[in-house]
Amino acid sequence: MKLSEKFMSISPSPTLSIDAKFKDMIANGIDVVGFGAGEPDFDTPSHIKQAAIKAIQDGFTKYTPAAGTVALKKAICEKFLKDNNLSYSPSDIVVSNGAKHSLVNVFQAILNAGDEVIIPAPFWVSYPEMVKIADGVPVFIETTEENSFKFTPQQLKDAITPKTKALILNSPSNPTGMVYTKDELKEIAKIAVENNIFVVSDEIYEELIYEGEHTSIAQLGEDIKARTIIVNGVSKSYSMTGWRIGYTASSPQIAKIMANVQSHATSNPCSISQAAAVAALQGTKDSIEVMKKAFIERRNYMVDRINSIPNLSCLKPNGAFYVMMNIKDILGKEIGGKIVSTSDEFCELALEKCKVALVPGSGFGAEGYVRWSYATSMENIKKGLDRIEAFLA
Ligand code: PMP
Ligand code: GLU
Repeated sequence: MKLSEKFMSISPSPTLSIDAKFKDMIANGIDVVGFGAGEPDFDTPSHIKQAAIKAIQDGFTKYTPAAGTVALKKAICEKFLKDNNLSYSPSDIVVSNGAKHSLVNVFQAILNAGDEVIIPAPFWVSYPEMVKIADGVPVFIETTEENSFKFTPQQLKDAITPKTKALILNSPSNPTGMVYTKDELKEIAKIAVENNIFVVSDEIYEELIYEGEHTSIAQLGEDIKARTIIVNGVSKSYSMTGWRIGYTASSPQIAKIMANVQSHATSNPCSISQAAAVAALQGTKDSIEVMKKAFIERRNYMVDRINSIPNLSCLKPNGAFYVMMNIKDILGKEIGGKIVSTSDEFCELALEKCKVALVPGSGFGAEGYVRWSYATSMENIKKGLDRIEAFLA
C-alpha cells in the first residue's frame, strides 16, 4: 500500500537522533560525552516542581481548554507585558506541547500550498520540515560567518517573491547564538511591513543573552506587531524541556485556527505541566541567573579552546548555548586514516573514535561547521575538547 508521499519525505530531527544515539551508548556503559541535543543540564527549579505536585494532589488532572488554561494564558500575558512591554489578551495566546508544537501549529495556520517561507541559514533543524509539513516551500537565505551569521536587509529583499508568506526570525539563534540588535530588527520590520509578510519570531532563547538585552521585533510598532507571531516557551529558560509547554502570541484569528487544529490533534497540553508553567512564569528568575553565569563561563572556555586548536575556529556567540565550529580547514584532509569530506563524516568519526557526540552543520544548512552545545558540565566540556584536540593532533 502506498504511504503518504509528503510525510515520507520528512527527515528525522538530526539533533534528536544524535541525542538518542548518545543516550543509547551511555546505557550500554560507553564513556561518551554528549554535545548533541541542546537542553539545559540544570534541574527544574523546586518551586516549579512543587506547583506540579500540588496540581496532582489537588486533582488538577483532567482535560483543560484546548488552547491552555485561563490561569496560564493570563500568566503569559503578564510575562509579555512585564518582560517585553507587549500587550496581549488571553484570546491571542495558544499554549501547546512545547514550542516545537507551537511552530508546527503556526505554519499550519498561516500557509496554503506553495506559500514560501524565508529561512535564514544556519537554521534550527526543524524549521524546513515544519514548513513542508504545512505544504509550504522553504526558501533559504545564506548568511556568512564574516557577517556574524546574520542576513542583511538586501538579502531579505532579494528573497521576497509574490509567494512569500513569512520570514522565520530566531534571535538568539540556534545554532549560531547570534542576537539581532534593535536597529537590525527595525530594518527587518520595515521590510516585513512593506511587503506584508508575517514574521514568525522564535524567542525561545530570550532569557539566554550574555551581553545586552533581548528585543522582540513585535515591540517595534503596531504594524509589525500585527504581522508577528511570537513563539516562546519554558523549556530553555526554566530548564523544563521534558514538561512540554510552549506558547504563541498572535492575532486572535490566527490563535483561533491553531486552537481549533490543536483541539483535534492533541486536545490540550498536560494539565500538570501547565500548572508548573504558571509557577515558572510568575516565580523568581534566580535560577535563570545561575544558569546564565555557568553558560558564560562555559562559552568562554569553549570558544578559547576551539580557537587555540589548529585548523578549527569559531565566533563568540552572544546568546543561547551553542557554538558553531568552523571545520573547513580540515575537510578534504586525512584524519585517523580516513579522508574527511563533510561535517557528517567528521561527526561520525568524532563519535566513533573520540566518543564525542556533536551535530553536523549539514542539518542546520551549514556544511563546513559542527555544532557544540555548552548546556553540559564544564567537566564534560573539558573532556570533549581534550579528546577532539588529541585526535586531531
Ligand atoms: N525553537 C528553537 C530554536 C529550539 O532550539 C527549540 C529546542 N528544541 C525549540 C524551538 C523547541 O523547544 P521546545 O519544543 O522544547 O519548547
Ligand atoms: N532544540 C534543541 C536542539 O536543537 C533540542 C533538540 C530538538 O528539539 O531539536 O538541540
